[in-house]
Amino acid sequence: MADAHRIDGKAFADDLRERIAGAVSALTAAHGLTPGLAVVLVGEDPASQVYVRSKQRQTEAAGMASTDHTLPAATPEAELLDLIARLNADPAVHGILVQLPLPPQIDPARMIDAIDPAKDVDGFHAVNTGRLWAGTDGLVPCTPLGCLMLLRDRPGDLEGLEAVVVGRSNIVGKPMAALLLGENCTVTLAHSRTRDLPAVCRRADILVAAVGRAEMIRGDWVKPGATVIDVGINRVPAPDRPRGYRLTGDVCFEEAKTVAGAITPVPGGVGPMTIACVLRNTLTAACRQAGIAEPAL
Ligand code: NDP
Repeated sequence: MADAHRIDGKAFADDLRERIAGAVSALTAAHGLTPGLAVVLVGEDPASQVYVRSKQRQTEAAGMASTDHTLPAATPEAELLDLIARLNADPAVHGILVQLPLPPQIDPARMIDAIDPAKDVDGFHAVNTGRLWAGTDGLVPCTPLGCLMLLRDRPGDLEGLEAVVVGRSNIVGKPMAALLLGENCTVTLAHSRTRDLPAVCRRADILVAAVGRAEMIRGDWVKPGATVIDVGINRVPAPDRPRGYRLTGDVCFEEAKTVAGAITPVPGGVGPMTIACVLRNTLTAACRQAGIAEPAL
C-alpha cells in the first residue's frame, strides 16, 4: 500500500492567512473597520514570548491592529483583571488573548471568566463552550478549529464517519469532539481511563490525537485508510540536533503513514493552523461586534 497523503498544514495555513488578509482589506475598505487583537503576556516564559511575537507578526501581516501588553511575572491577579476590563471596554479591541500558562498567583479560570465572550478569540469562556455544544454561533478554540478546517478539506464530507478523539482537555479534546459531532460524525472521546485504547482507535475513520505523549499511537492502532490528525507537540532528546531535541507528535508517524489514508506531520501539520485560526476568530469577532456579515473563509 502507498504511503498516506501528507496533510500540509503549513501550506493550508499560509493560504488561510492570505484569504483572511483579503477579507480584512475588503472590510476596511467597505466599512472603515480594522479588526484589533490585544495579546497579553504575563511573565517571561521563552516559549510564550516566541509564540506571542509570532502572533503579533501574523496579525499585522493580515492587516489587523495588534496591541501587546507585557506584564511582569509578579503581577497581582487584580491588575490583570483590571487590564482585561479595560480591553473589554475598548471599541478598537475586537479580540483578547491572554497567553497561557499564567504565573501561580493568577487563577486561569477567573481570568477566562473576566474576558467578554464576544472578544474571547481563544474560545475558552464558558459561554463559548456552551454555544459550541449547543451548536449555536460562538467563538471556537483555535487548535480544534484548525483541525476541523483540515478535515473539511480532506476527507471533506465527514457525515456518518466514526471519529475517535484521544485526549479530553478543555482546549483541544472536548471542543474537537463537539465540532466533529456538529459535522454529524459518530464521536468517541477517549482518555487515560479508556479500556483497550488501540481497539477503540482502530474503529476510527477520523483519528485525532491530543494526548501529549510522544508517539504513543502506533501504526497498528490505525484503521487502514483513516485520516489521522496529530495535535501533539512533544520534545524528545536528539543529541545530534542543534537544539538537542526534536519535535514529535502523539502518533508514530513512520508507522502510521504506511496504514493511514492521510496524516498530519509534526511539525508542519496542526501547529501552523492554530495561529491562523486566532486571526480568523479575530476577524469573526470584529464582524459580529460591528453587525457586519462574516466573510466565508
Ligand atoms: P492535556 O495534558 O490537557 O490533556 C491530555 C489528555 O490526554 C488528557 O485528557 C488525558 O486523559 C489524555 N491522556 C494522557 N495520557 C493518556 C494515555 N496514556 N492514554 C489515553 N489518554 C491519555 O493536553 P492538551 O490537550 O493541552 O494537549 C495535548 C497535546 O497537544 C500536547 O502535546 C500539546 O503540546 C499539544 N497541543 C498542540 C497545539 C497546537 O497548536 N498544535 C495546541 C494545544 C496543545 P485524562 O483526562 O484521563 O487525564
